[in-house]
Amino acid sequence: MVQVHPWQPGYLVTYALQVTEVDPITKNVLSAVCCMCKYHGRELALGAVRKRKQTQKFKFWSAPWRTDLMLQHNKEQHLLKWAEYEALS
Ligand SMILES: [Zn+2]
Repeated sequence: MVQVHPWQPGYLVTYALQVTEVDPITKNVLSAVCCMCKYHGRELALGAVRKRKQTQKFKFWSAPWRTDLMLQHNKEQHLLKWAEYEALS
């Protein structure tokens, strides 16, 4: 089941995001960046064999807000930092 939700301010803390674009008229959030990518970069998974070089681009999110993919991204790309972050909350 795909989880699609309207933007929630709580995503900023729950998924470590930072708003990057807001609609000037409706004030709806249009995009947000992954703070883990922005401040720590992506981690290499232990034992992973990659066919292509891992990207170091920041992950940007926009509607539809897929919280399942946000969580998956944090667990796959920021395993250690995400564990530390979750331990803080
Ligand atoms: Zn990220």
